[in-house]
Amino acid sequence: MTLVVVGSIAFDAVKTPFGERERMLGGSAVHFSLAAGFFTDVRVVGPVGGDFGEEEYAVLTDRGVNVDDIERVEGGRTFFWRGEYEWNLNIRHTLDTQLNVFGEFEPKLSEASKRADMVFLANIQPDLQREVRAQCAGARLVGLDSMNLWIETARESLARTISEVDVVFFNDDELRMFTEQPTLMRAARQVMATGPRTVVVKQGEYGAALVTEEGFFALPAYPLETVLDPTGAGDCFAGGFLGYLDSLDGPADEPILRRAMTYGTVLASFNVEEFGTERVQRLTREEIDARYDELRSMTVLDAAAARG
Ligand code: AMP
Repeated sequence: MTLVVVGSIAFDAVKTPFGERERMLGGSAVHFSLAAGFFTDVRVVGPVGGDFGEEEYAVLTDRGVNVDDIERVEGGRTFFWRGEYEWNLNIRHTLDTQLNVFGEFEPKLSEASKRADMVFLANIQPDLQREVRAQCAGARLVGLDSMNLWIETARESLARTISEVDVVFFNDDELRMFTEQPTLMRAARQVMATGPRTVVVKQGEYGAALVTEEGFFALPAYPLETVLDPTGAGDCFAGGFLGYLDSLDGPADEPILRRAMTYGTVLASFNVEEFGTERVQRLTREEIDARYDELRSMTVLDAAAARG
């Protein structure tokens, strides 16, 4: 099974109340790949500049991620993002976004990537997301994430891209902003009316909700005592979710989607324990499975708890 992701490959500068980093590896496609790489074969599509070194490539290849479709622009600079979080880590301010090599990027996928059976259009300009989606016409499932910048500056293009995917991942503010609907359910239904079968609503430290045509499911976040940096949590969530789905044959029915929600939640929880990719780089499959079991026992409402 092969999962292709297009999204930002970045250097991030991040400040939270608990510390800061001036330049670290980041980007939506990077966070996604490091999480999904635990489950399936991942191929990353996107440009980097001459400033993207061996050390950065190695973070991806050490997880088994295929980097053949990363286009290196020798004279260019890698995408750069600077953000700062408030004491309430659900509130983040973008201080700088430099598209750099993404400004001129025209994705040309290798034959192996075009044959991918799943695709994730991670957060990046929606025209680029659509170009990649068009090149993977045979994919059995396509997911998408976005953010407020693209809702504000490229809304029509984003709406078109959304209409061509199966699963949309949005945080709840973005979902409300995009749909201009006051409740999560109405907003999710409005998105689904344009094409997607599934909407995943991320709610930061409060967890995530799954809306499908058949039902609804919600899971709290794993209750961490310490969170240092939430950057990339949403991408790791999508990486755990889609990586798990891609590792399975057959249709993603409701029970399987619930397990995917749980893997997504687990991967996101590890990501936020340290800055950038630091924690997920050291993560093991055993740690993932142990936390999955813990989360399951925390959230199960067994027969003994039935009303009556
Ligand atoms: P998340 O915290 O999951 O929303 O993702 C954070 C990652 O998104 C960071 O590593 C940034 O490099 C990247 N990012 C921030 N702004 C943008 C943008 N406008 N387009 C693409 N990626 C971005």
